[in-house]
Parts: sequence; C-alpha cells; structure tokens
Amino acid sequence: MPGTTDLTKLTAAETAARIASGEVTAVQVTEAHLDRIAAVDEKVHAFLHVDREGALAQARAVDDKRARGEKLGPLAGVPLALKDIFTTKGVPTTVGSKILEGWIPPYDATLTQRLKAADVVILGKTNMDEFAMGSSTENSAYGPTGNPWDLTRIPGGSGGGSSAALASYQAPLAIGTDTGGSIRQPAAVTGTVGVKPTYGAVSRYGMVAFSSSLDQGGPCARTVLDAALLHEAIAGHDPLDSTSIDAPVPSVVAAAREGDVAGLRIGVVKEFSGEGYQAGVMQRFNESVELLRELGAEVVEVSCPSFDRALAAYYLIAPSECSSNLARFDAMRYGLRVGDDGTRSAEDVTALTREAGFGDEVKRRIMLGTYALSSGYYDAYYGSAQKVRTLIARDFERAFASVDVLISPTTPTTAFPIGERADDPLAMYLADLCTIPSNLAGNAAMSLPCGLAPEDGLPVGLQIIAPAMADDRLYRVGAAVEAAFVDRWGHHLLEEAPAL
Ligand code: GLN
Repeated sequence: MPGTTDLTKLTAAETAARIASGEVTAVQVTEAHLDRIAAVDEKVHAFLHVDREGALAQARAVDDKRARGEKLGPLAGVPLALKDIFTTKGVPTTVGSKILEGWIPPYDATLTQRLKAADVVILGKTNMDEFAMGSSTENSAYGPTGNPWDLTRIPGGSGGGSSAALASYQAPLAIGTDTGGSIRQPAAVTGTVGVKPTYGAVSRYGMVAFSSSLDQGGPCARTVLDAALLHEAIAGHDPLDSTSIDAPVPSVVAAAREGDVAGLRIGVVKEFSGEGYQAGVMQRFNESVELLRELGAEVVEVSCPSFDRALAAYYLIAPSECSSNLARFDAMRYGLRVGDDGTRSAEDVTALTREAGFGDEVKRRIMLGTYALSSGYYDAYYGSAQKVRTLIARDFERAFASVDVLISPTTPTTAFPIGERADDPLAMYLADLCTIPSNLAGNAAMSLPCGLAPEDGLPVGLQIIAPAMADDRLYRVGAAVEAAFVDRWGHHLLEEAPAL
C-alpha cells in the first residue's frame, strides 16, 4: 500500500481505480490530501476555505457505498478543489470579494450538485481574483496565491487557487471558470491542464456571474485524461440555465484514451506570435509544432486578422455585462452591509457597501461598462465591440473550414513576479491575448504543458482550439501531445517542480 504522501501524487484515474479495487479507502485518500493542505497551503494560499468535515463525510459515503457492493462511478472518492465562484450549500462562497464575506449559500450550483452526484470529494473553495476579474489572483480580497514553481510568482488568474492546488498536489482535480482565459492561463503558468468547454456545455446555474455571454466553467487537472473524466462529470444540459446546450456531451473520455493526431489538419494562428511573446515560450511552441508533424499531423499556417481586435472588444463587452450583473450586490440581498445605522437611506447604504465591498479592479470595470453602455456611447463602444465579436467568429469559421483544430501559445509569457503588473491593468490584460477569441466565439479550447522556458525554467502552455461542440478533438490532440512529451522527457513535466 502506498504511503500517505504517495496518494497525493496519483492521478484522478489511478485514485478512483485504487478506491474501487479496495486497495485504499476514500477516507484515506481524503485524509492524505487534507494533511497535504495543512502542510503546504500556508505557503501557497490556494484555498480560501477548507471543508474538512464535509470532505470526510463525502469520503465516508463513498466507502459505505463500496461496502454495500454498489458500483462506483469513474471519479468516486477523488478529491477536488472548487473555485470559490460556485455556490455550495452551507459552505461559504465569496468570489474572492469582501462583498460576499460571510455569505452562506442556501443552495448548490448545478456543477456542485453534479460533483456530489459523481461522488467527488470537495475539499474546499479556492482563491481567485475578485469576481474572476484578473490574470494573477492578486485581485483577490483575501491576498494572493503563490505559484508552486516559484512562490514569488503568480499562479495565473482568475483561477490561481485551483491551478496552484493542482501543481502543489493538494488536489488531483479542480474546477475553474473561463471568461477570457481564467482556466487556460493559470494552467499554462503552473504546468497543468485546463479546458474551457464549448460555451453552454457546463451549467452556469449557481456560478456567480461576471460576463454571462462569456463565462464558462470547466475542468482543471494534471493530466488530459483526468480533465476528460471531470469534463464528463460536470457537462450536460441543465434546464436551470437558459444558455445550456441541449445536446449530447461529446465523448471526451474516449477521445482522451485514443489520443491520436495522424491525418489531422492543424492550423497555427499567425497572429499569435511576434512582439511581446517571450523567446522561450515561442521556442517551446515551435517544438510542439514539430512534434505534431512527427506524430503525423499536417500543420499549416492560418490567418485570423480580427483576432488583433479581440482584446479591445473583450474589454468593452465583459465590463458592460459585469456592470449589469454586479448591480445585484446592493447590500440588501446578500453578504456585506455597511452604514445601516437607521439614519441613512437605502441608496446611501448601497453606495457605502459597494464602496467598501468592491476592490479597485471591480470598480474600474463597473465604471467602464456603465460608460460603454450609456446612451450616446453605446453604438460607438458596445455596438462596435459586438461587431468585432462577429468578425472573430467568422475568422474561426473560415479557419475551421480548412483545419480540424488551431494551436497557439496559451499566454505570451511564463509566470510573472507577484506585483510586477499589479498597478498596470493594460499589461495584465495582455496575458489573455491568445485565449479571449475563443470566449468571444464560444468555441472550445485547452491548455496543456509543452515544456519549460529555457530562460527562467517555468512552464509554458500549448493552446488547442476546436470548433463549438467538438470538445473531443481537444482531448484527442491533447492526449497525443501529452503522451509524446512524457515519452520524450521520461516523466510528467510537473515532476520537475521544486518540492514544497
Ligand atoms: N483575465 C481576464 C479578465 O480579467 C479573464 C478573466 C476570466 O477568464 N475570468 O477579465
């Protein structure tokens, strides 16, 4: 039987197999991860809340099920770190904001319910940029998270708690949300795997809204197969989300098990290179292109000229939607209430609460969005951004008429030092240059590790983009690339991370 520490090094698939065979119990696995959290999370700060009792109760239920001879699901007993943007009944949900401090949701998000139904053990809630606005987790009201590769650097954002939990072996599975890149960019800079499914594939019911036409929950893991197993557990139609897709979920687990690129046509997005891209990132990306050729894919260059405008369009659309979505935090309905001393009007209490409860970046976006939507400016800003969105969708359509998937670096640089871009929102926004087009068009995309940048020894992410509803292609290509790299390196990239 493996020692306690070894249990945290297993993949989710291996963990589930050992629990199902009776080699270990779900309680042992959960305790090993809770011990690991106790040992390292003071340094990493991946979790905002650890639900020790809840996790052990879920684990015991799995062990009881097995004892009764009931069949266990493919992820039964596997621990998971949940981004603190999904509501969890009876367990705090803050979205990384002071405005929801102390709020205990009375209901589970659909995603939370599905995880529980799959017998996944939810260890706790992970740190994030406030309302998922950011690329570094420095915008959390509860302090930053460190990158396990170098604790002085950012773990990506907004889902930095989830990516850091995976990379520091505090959980083999995690959940993120991706509005402009918040699953993929954290995956890239921590040497983990993250998938933004097709928009509408994973229910948004109970996921605190940032920009509803872009927000999408998705799986984070250390391997492509683990991400696929989690993908199938959380995806699928939900009548409680009006934008949920009512169609069968693509067979991503089967695709991840196949892992093959022979005969595929792969497009390299020409626009995602050049100035601002770190040399080591481009070097590893170009090696990935060569690898795909060696594996039998046909790689061609593809031009998507409108992608150059994606960032500008995103920073009008996302703030516009957030200015509307965040109006509900009025001090009356949830969480924080400031200045309610019996002498002030409701409007004043709302204003004082929002002043105290929201951080700078959230305020900046609410102001930007309110301005962009105001009469007289609407056509010039919001209207134009929506037109760019259509152009981007057309660029993708044209590209996917001739290739099966597109590839690019996930993010232009490796993990930057905490504090380096904190006072420069525009520099921060550049982290999502390559990820945003897929949110605007609603298609599916993955980031997986493709090596360490020679100049700083930090992980580089390879992005794979597939058409909407063709999420299985991400896993087929991703699994082939992963297997080839593991073969070449003789181990998984994360094994090169310094021990904590
Ligand atoms: N970094 C981007 C932003 O700040 C994307 C965030 C996200 O995907 N949630 O909006």
